[in-house]
Amino acid sequence: MGKEPQAAAGEAGTSRIDRIYDALARAILAQELLPGTKLSEEEIGAHFNVSRTIVRAALNRLHTEAIVEFKQNRGAFVASPSLEEARQVFEARMCIEREVIGRLVGRITDQQLDKLGKHIESERVANRERDRARSIVLSGEFHILVATMAGNQVLADFLTQLISRSSLILAQHSRHHEPECSADEHAVLVEALRSRDPQAAIAAMADHLSHVVDRANFSPAKQKPKSLGEILSHYK
Ligand SMILES: [Zn+2]
Repeated sequence: MGKEPQAAAGEAGTSRIDRIYDALARAILAQELLPGTKLSEEEIGAHFNVSRTIVRAALNRLHTEAIVEFKQNRGAFVASPSLEEARQVFEARMCIEREVIGRLVGRITDQQLDKLGKHIESERVANRERDRARSIVLSGEFHILVATMAGNQVLADFLTQLISRSSLILAQHSRHHEPECSADEHAVLVEALRSRDPQAAIAAMADHLSHVVDRANFSPAKQKPKSLGEILSHYK
């Protein structure tokens, strides 16, 4: 009995961390909070009415995904990946994802193919609704889903971190309004998996990632940053 209130407080704490994490991640991927913006613990805590411990836990999670960086004695900031870092992240993805798709093609089940098909449908909905932040997140999740199905959790975890970094890079550097990671190309990938043809599947993944980089048209950001308070007022 004595443990219950503590467990409840722990759960409530976790859900508050999730809420702040989600709000900040969405604001960053929607390009509302721009790279280099200071993320004040006090201001975020006051806005969501939570302690700085909760805010710090959410910021730490964003940090492990390389979306937030900590500067010594200056606190947390939205990370600003350089163009060179962007190039390296996509190069690393190319290595891992060719391997992942090559492994998956020999073992994928019809049920898994259906699951990937359903995911692509939700990407299309987000694209139709022009929900750019959601499109970027769902595109990334498609790749994580593929990696998880390939059956090597270490590769999947590794890729998850690279996908978060890619999402930030795409949100920051891409100047296109259409979704960078087209659902049509994901559908081509799924068809190659369905045909159980390793060469076709690896080629489809390599083509897709090259197109993402080409479409992203990496260029320096030009927008004027808004204040943290102004952005947070949209997130309750
Ligand atoms: Zn993709």
